[in-house]
Order: sequence, then structure tokens, then C-alpha cells
Amino acid sequence: MIKQRISESEEIVLLSHVNPDGDAVGSALALHHYLKNSGKSSRIIMPNDYPDFLKWLPGSEEVIIFTRNEPAAKLVISNADLIFLLDLNNPDRAGKVKDLINGGQVFKVMIDHHPNPSEFADIAFTDTMSSSTAELVYRFIEMAGNPELVDNVVATCLYTGIMADTGSFSYNSSQPETYRVLSELLKRGIDKDYIYSMVYDNFSENRLKLLGYCLDKKMVVLPEYKTAYISLTLKEKKQYSYIRGDAEGFVNYPLSVKGVDFVAFFMENDDHVKISFRSKGTFDTNDFAVKNFDGGGHINASGGESKLNLEDTINKFVSLLPHIRGD
Ligand code: 5GP
Ligand code: MN
Repeated sequence: MIKQRISESEEIVLLSHVNPDGDAVGSALALHHYLKNSGKSSRIIMPNDYPDFLKWLPGSEEVIIFTRNEPAAKLVISNADLIFLLDLNNPDRAGKVKDLINGGQVFKVMIDHHPNPSEFADIAFTDTMSSSTAELVYRFIEMAGNPELVDNVVATCLYTGIMADTGSFSYNSSQPETYRVLSELLKRGIDKDYIYSMVYDNFSENRLKLLGYCLDKKMVVLPEYKTAYISLTLKEKKQYSYIRGDAEGFVNYPLSVKGVDFVAFFMENDDHVKISFRSKGTFDTNDFAVKNFDGGGHINASGGESKLNLEDTINKFVSLLPHIRGD
């Protein structure tokens, strides 16, 4: 049924979530190239821009950034007869694109691995146990398409998505299925070391200095709650010439402190505080983010936001700890 849908569709749109990450961009570009290999054209819309360390991905220059080119994005969406929602299981996660996809007659296919998918797609290919949406895109192609059309370019984009969402296979990556898919991707001759290097070894000197500053001056460890947090103000971002993506991954570092299994990273923005949560083991950061910070994600990696100022946001966070992290 989905095979027929794809072959009958003239205007296919691939959409992912706000603040796109490696899985969002990798999945969308992979499906884009795969569809091209199948003789179909598609357009990719991202609700807002994504970090430079993903811009090298093949086809990145074709991505339409909604906040940069609203008229083009709106036109593309209004002409769509099939929309793939990738790494996106709730219209609320589509930023300003939300109102354009909520409702409407266009047929929607969701490929996603987040918990609690909403019911707004016509077909949902979801698996919350899966490492990443990119892994699911490969499985989707096996199920509803032709894996022989997964070439080196498609495989490179998919590998990037899986690598990004597992922190290079350090979490969300305990299912044998992930490695079966990775093995299929490696058979396409991808250069995994090159991919790693393009994503993780492509930062500015400033970013490394900012990391040093965050760890030395801004990390707060609360051993009684097995918790740590880091915060970054607008002023500090300016001091280090911060650009989008520079603080990516910082939230993971305090998890390497002995005894710490829950970390929060608070980033001050112009009109809100963006928060990232990470945990090791069973502490459910998704539940915590949903209940307290208007967010969501996965058990061990989630995020949210706060309209309180930075200081009040941190105070709120710390005041919650005795209730949820006590013995
Ligand atoms: P990150 O901390 O890297 O921004 O996000 C980690 C995970 O949490 C990702 O799966 C991301 O999609 C999810 N996430 C981050 N921020 C939010 C948010 O504000 N709302 C929801 N629902 N999920 C979020
Ligand atoms: Mn993902």
C-alpha cells in the first residue's frame, strides 16, 4: 500500500523536527537520495537551521529551512501529496511548520523512534526500541522498497543518523538489530572514519575553549542527588563567539563523573532557556522533561524548555531533585 502511495505521489515532502540533529538530517537526506534512486523526487523541509557539522552531508544544500525561506517552504508543503515525518512523532515538534501539517488532507507517513507517538499520521512505522530514525528508515526501505537502491550516499546519511543518536554507539545501541543494519550500510562501502571525523572533528578552536570553560567553571555536581548540571548565559556564549551546535554533546561529559547518572545542560537564549537532559541506567529523563519542562525525548536523552529566566530555571530544577532523586 505504501509502495503504491510513493509511486503515485508527485510531490513528496520530507519533514523533521525543530532544532534538527544528526538523526533528523541524516534520515531526511537518506530518504531523499533513496527516492531519487527510485526515480522519485522529494523536497526536504527543516523547521529551522541545523549545525555546520551536518552541512557536509550530501544534498544538504537542497534542504529548505522554514525560518529562512518561509514562502518556498509553504508552497512546497501546500503542493505536497505525501509527507514523511521523520524523527518527528508529534506536530508540536515541528516548530512553526506545525500549523501547516496539522489537519489537512495530505497523506502522512511517520518514521520515528520516540515514545508515545501521536496519532496524526496515516501510516506509522515506529519502534521505540530502535537506536534512531535512520535505522528505521533502512528497515522501512527493506519492508516497503528496494534495499538494492541504498547506495553509498544513502548509507552515508543513514550511518550519520545512527552514529549521532547513539553518541557513536555508547547509548541507545544495545539491540542486535542496530548492528545488522550497520553491517548492511558498511557493505555499501561507506567510510565510517571519515563520517566520524566530519561530525566530531570539525569544530572551531572556540568550541573547545568553551567546553573547557564549561567543565572548569560552570559544572555543578550534586553528589547527594547523583546529579550534575552546566549552564551557559548569553554573555558567555558571546564571549566564546558561540555558533549553533558549539555546545552539542557538552551535556554528556558530567556523566563520566563517578556516581553521576543524571545531567542537565541549560542554555540561555533570547526568549527561553533550552534544556538538555541525559541519564545513565533507569532514570527516565523523558518523563522528567515531559512533567516539568514542557519537553520530551527518550529515557536517557531528552530535552525541554523554560520561559523562566536562567537562574529561576536552575532553581526550579534543583528544587525538584529531592523529590525525584532521593533514596
Ligand atoms: P537534545 O538534548 O540533544 O537537544 O535532545 C535530546 C532528545 O530529546 C532528542 O531526541 C530530541 O528530539 C528530544 N528533545 C529535545 N528537546 C525537546 C523538546 O523541547 N521537546 C521534546 N518533545 N523533545 C525534545
Ligand atoms: Mn532520533
